Amino acid sequence: MSVCNRRQFIVRVGVGASALALARLGVAEEAKPALTEDDAYAKSMGFKLDASQVDRAKFTKFEEGQSCSTCQLYSGAEGDPLGPCSFFGGRLVPPTGWCRNFKPKNA
Ligand code: SF4
Repeated sequence: MSVCNRRQFIVRVGVGASALALARLGVAEEAKPALTEDDAYAKSMGFKLDASQVDRAKFTKFEEGQSCSTCQLYSGAEGDPLGPCSFFGGRLVPPTGWCRNFKPKNA
């Protein structure tokens, strides 16, 4: 193997490894499952898929208009049926959802 071929080989291996790492990262991002109300941690946080179903007697700080779409921890695009919630490790939640860790945007 000449010096030039060795250099090309090293560059190609590096490019291939980088592409593989990025592909794995992409798969990991896509693999986040949707959060369910049955999830034990979600349940402890009072998570609801529909904020209108929040137990207002139990979660007295809940206010009308609060939902995942107005929470700073939600990063779904407007119009998307689900978006990642950083509080729940990037698991997907609907914009209509709510949990007691709600943090208003612009707060
Ligand atoms: S932290 Fe915010 S975005 Fe996440 S589930 Fe609770 S209210 Fe929704």
